[in-house]
Amino acid sequence: MFDTIIIGAGIAGITTAYWLHSAGQKVLLIDRKGLLAGASGAAGAFISPRLGKGGELQRITNRAYLFALEFYEEKTPESFFQKGLVRIPKNRTDAEKFENFITHLDVPFRVCDEEDISFVAKKHLKNGALCFLQSAFVDPMSVAKKLLEDIKTAFGIDAKPFRKGDMWCIDGYLAKNIVVATGANRLPLNIPYLEIGGVWGERIDVKSDASIPMSLHKHISVSANIDGNVRIGATHVRDGSKSEIERLNDLIVGAIDLVPELKDQKLTRIYAGLRSSVNDHFPIAGAVANAEKTIEKFGMLSKKDRISLKEVPKIEGCYFTGCFGGRGFVFAPLIGKMTADVILGNENIESVLSSDRFLLRYMRKKKL
Ligand SMILES: Cc1cc2nc3c(=O)[nH]c(=O)nc-3n(C[C@H](O)[C@H](O)[C@H](O)COP(=O)(O)OP(=O)(O)OC[C@H]3O[C@@H](n4cnc5c(N)ncnc54)[C@H](O)[C@@H]3O)c2cc1C
Repeated sequence: MFDTIIIGAGIAGITTAYWLHSAGQKVLLIDRKGLLAGASGAAGAFISPRLGKGGELQRITNRAYLFALEFYEEKTPESFFQKGLVRIPKNRTDAEKFENFITHLDVPFRVCDEEDISFVAKKHLKNGALCFLQSAFVDPMSVAKKLLEDIKTAFGIDAKPFRKGDMWCIDGYLAKNIVVATGANRLPLNIPYLEIGGVWGERIDVKSDASIPMSLHKHISVSANIDGNVRIGATHVRDGSKSEIERLNDLIVGAIDLVPELKDQKLTRIYAGLRSSVNDHFPIAGAVANAEKTIEKFGMLSKKDRISLKEVPKIEGCYFTGCFGGRGFVFAPLIGKMTADVILGNENIESVLSSDRFLLRYMRKKKL
């Protein structure tokens, strides 16, 4: 018997489990495969800011970025590599955008000086570069293990949650609440208005003596060199135009083009996974609305109809966290805390993060 069972041992489920456990809840984290078996095990786990023209998505991402840096530094210091990040515009048009982005940057940065970027091939520096000295990357597996110390886990369970009296039941385990943190996989219960998409991606580790003091991002990311290991990523597979070998070769060639010293590299490991996201690219967190009961209560909606989200019936004891796109390790500490706070009754979720936004769209679109 648990207070909360979390379904999915990726970084979304792990951080939510961590915050609930820290608040005194009895928590069980389950996964059908194992720890970090999904996208989280593939991530380069760079903690990098979002550049843009201001706006909600940038605000929430960069709030999460600053939160994540403090979180990993405090909770998992031995797996936290704060080496800084150099962001290079992709081309001249991008460089012009950077000038505009600077005026909206809500995290610490400075324009790189020559010393910062002496390891980068000169031809890439014609348009300048920005330095984010606080930026970092983490080691996913040691972060996961550290955060889960003292938390019960059960692997090899393909969750099919159902109600038993006023409890949730999964594979014989009972709990008041469940949290769905299943990434880009098929949802373990019916939430008809949530359409979660996935973008497949790969990244690699290489062994190299190249001197790379800071991580680097242009069209691909190259990490700072830690004990002879460099992370290079990532691909975004949106069509079948290139084979896996071609995509991995592009990563290596691209990395050597950016940092010529990497020509001595030896590929040591390939990672791959499916990033999850929804079409507005915001994460999702908090209670899950009951579509059937909401439609019973309000009927279908026309474009003009407004309803109070406070009155939307929820699936009792059911919560969701995820859809972090390519920034799971950035979002998870903050969004995991927000999800835990909703479960603990401490906080309401911001409407831009609530899955209710999709319920309303569904109720406006669906033909009866
Ligand atoms: C190549 C690549 C590079 C990336 N680089 C970065 C990066 O540098 N920085 C960054 O912040 N993010 C990065 N990301 C994105 C990041 O990995 C994801 O956003 C994040 O891992 C998503 O975490 P999650 O917990 O939501 O999903 P996942 O990690 O996919 O976890 C979902 C888990 O749920 C389990 N599951 C699913 N259904 C069930 C069920 N019915 N019962 C039980 N278990 C179930 C799965 O087995 C899986 O373990 C990268 C992703 C990829 C693919």
